[in-house]
Formats: sequence, C-alpha cells, structure tokens
Amino acid sequence: MKRMKILAAVVVLGVWCASGIWAQEKPGAKTVRALRFGKLWDGKGKLWTNAIVIVEGDRIRNVTTDASAIPAGAETIDLSKCTGLPGLIDVHTHMTIYTDETPGEPPFEPMLKQLTNNPPAVEVFLARKGAMRTLEAGVTTVRDLGADQYMDIAMRDLINRGEMIGPRMFVVGYGLYITNTPYKPGMNPPAGGIADGVPEVLRAVRQQVAAGADLIKMYASTGTDDDVTGFQTYSYEEIKAAVDAAHKFGKKIAIHSYGPDGARDAVRAGTDSLEHATDMDDATIQEMVKRGTFYVPTIDHNRYYLDNWQKIGYANGFQEKTKAFIERNLETARKAHKAGVKFAMGSDAIYTMFGQNTRELGWFVKAGMTPEQALRTATTNAAELLGKEKELGAVAPGYFADLVAVEGDPLADIRVAINNVRWVMKAGAVVADKTKGQVR
Ligand SMILES: [Zn+2]
Repeated sequence: MKRMKILAAVVVLGVWCASGIWAQEKPGAKTVRALRFGKLWDGKGKLWTNAIVIVEGDRIRNVTTDASAIPAGAETIDLSKCTGLPGLIDVHTHMTIYTDETPGEPPFEPMLKQLTNNPPAVEVFLARKGAMRTLEAGVTTVRDLGADQYMDIAMRDLINRGEMIGPRMFVVGYGLYITNTPYKPGMNPPAGGIADGVPEVLRAVRQQVAAGADLIKMYASTGTDDDVTGFQTYSYEEIKAAVDAAHKFGKKIAIHSYGPDGARDAVRAGTDSLEHATDMDDATIQEMVKRGTFYVPTIDHNRYYLDNWQKIGYANGFQEKTKAFIERNLETARKAHKAGVKFAMGSDAIYTMFGQNTRELGWFVKAGMTPEQALRTATTNAAELLGKEKELGAVAPGYFADLVAVEGDPLADIRVAINNVRWVMKAGAVVADKTKGQVR
C-alpha cells in the first residue's frame, strides 16, 4: 500500500515535468479535427494525394480528398508538406529496462549497474523518457516482451489512464526462463518467470495471465546481451505446453530463440511469433510460411550493443561473435523473406535504444524488402500479430487515430520513415510536433 502511494506521487510529478517538453493533449471525445497530408500511405494498399483525415475523439472518422467533407467547426492541422503514415508498431521492446545517461540524475554509471540499483518505482518513473523517445520515433504501440516485478503492467495501465505519456503497450509480465539460463551480473532472469518441466511451465503461464499479461513470452534458447549463443533451453514438450496453455486463455505467445533448434520446436509447437531466430533451416522456414508464423528478427539490437557496449558495461572481447551473428541474422531474414514468411518489426529496444526503434526497417530493406513491404511489418503485419488488425496499423474509418507525418517519400527511401518524423498523433492526441521548427 505504501509503495502504491509513492508510485502515485512520482507519476503526478512526471506528468508535470514532461508537459514542458511534449504537451500531452487530452482532446475531448467530441473534438473533431481535419488533418491535411500532401501524401498519405494508409496501410490498406492506397497512396493518397492531398488526403484529409477526419479525426473525432480518439478515432478516425473518415479519409477523403473532399474538403467539403470537413465538419463545420473542425480544427484543421496542416501537414500538407508531409507524408502521412499509420502510427508505427514495435512488437519487441523492453520499455521498463530503460537507463538514463543524464549526468547527475541518476549518477551516470554502467547501465547494467544502474538497473540493479533502482527500486521498481524509480525504474517505472525513469522509463517515461524512453517512452517519449519511442513516440517521437513515430511508434504509437509496442508489444513489450519481458519485465521484472510487473513493472510493464504498471506502465501499460498508467499510460492507458493518461497518467504517463507513452505508446500503447501490450505486455507479458515475466518471460518464462529455465533455471540454467546463464547468469549475467545484474541481469539474471527475474525469478518470477523461472519454470522447469511441464507443470511449472503451466503454472508460470497461468500466473502471467492472472497478473494481467496480454500475451506470453518464453525464452527457448540461450542468447541475450553480449552472449549470442543459441542453445535450446526448453524441450519441445515444455514449449508445446506453454503455447497450448496461452492459446487456451485466448493469449498469443512470443518465443525467443537465438539458434535454430529452439526456433524449429517453437514453430512446430505453434508459436505466434518467433523472436531473433538465426540460422533457421529451410524446413523451419517452410513451416513458418505454411502456418503463418511471424518472424521478428531484431537484427538492429546487436548493432546497438556494438555501438554502446562500454556504456552498458559489457566486457571487451564479445564483438567478433556479435558481428558474425548480425550477418547470419540478416542472411536468415533474407532467406525467410524470399520464402514468403510474414515479418513484424521488433527493435528489442532496451537501455538507451528507445527512439531508434525503427532502424530495424533499414535492415529489412537490406534483406530484400521494398520500403513498402518494410512499412507493412510495422503497421498491418504488426497489428495482425497483436490481434488488433481492425483498430491499429492503418489509417481508415473506425481505427485509432494513430498517425505519423514524415518529411519526404518513405516509399522511395525507408530512411525517411526512420529519420524524418515531424509529427505524431496517438489516439487523437498530438504527442510530438516538430513542424514549427521547435519541439512542441
Ligand atoms: Zn528482447
């Protein structure tokens, strides 16, 4: 009870502090706005010229080119120099594992140490900065794949209540780990997700559902941070038990496997998405095509580790293996895309990576996608993976008013979507605006 009061106090302070940086609007249910875009890629297969998107409250009412359809009294927001896109979706984040680089608050120290020193309420409070950077990158929805002490559930609920600024979150609670996942200083797997054998796996799945998780996460291989090994950890029987238990509750499941063996068994067991998965054999890739399993390769997170290893606190000497892993990860993505596997964009953003969430799209283009195919992985495909394809991932009547304005043509050059975000709306509220040459 005491902890709840402290949390409530820091959250109120958070809204007050943040309002000076990004004005968090709360438009009323009846607020009507007309957004004008020079071009609009709607996620439904249409590229509009001079599009007008009518927004009412948190939803899109209409998409048109007919100015006479703008309701009387509607506020017009002129984004005619920009291309509109649906709000982007990142299906693999760790929003609560945010670390701060600002000297003095808290005192800067290697990120791994910083995390272990912070109580959960402080972690959730600090995570609002990562959440804002994620929004500024055009990401209005995330699937968050692993947290400690149900901080992800707290953060999701605070955002939904309007007490915290951030993307809409779909969360897993504790990811399921076997006992012998290699120890990492400060990063040993949270105890709440440890489960060995089918009965314990069932208990752990049921516990996450009872706690309020939106979906289930299971770690079926070694490999995380500066460790790129991919040894299978859970047996087929344990994976199958988790998949079936999740599905019986109407929940989806995301399975982590750095290597091919865990990937093969996760796909055969019926996972909804497969995370990381390098060196997959052709039979596994074919099975993914047949079953419609989503592949979330998270290639860019290892690039982030290479760029920031000293700040994070990794020991020198891991780089060659990680570089080789990135190459194999990209090659697996290339093969899977060619075979027709469905992809969803996941950054695996953690520590200070928030704001770089969409760099993964650049790797997808390297793997052979057109920019439009890459955009689908972060819109329609990701929405389908969430089971929210009628509300998220497109600009169409009835959908959440989640929109991004970028400067340039993202269909010609994916870097436009990655680097040129100028304005972001989430559920009808403008959450980022750089159109006036300054931060709103
Ligand atoms: Zn992850």
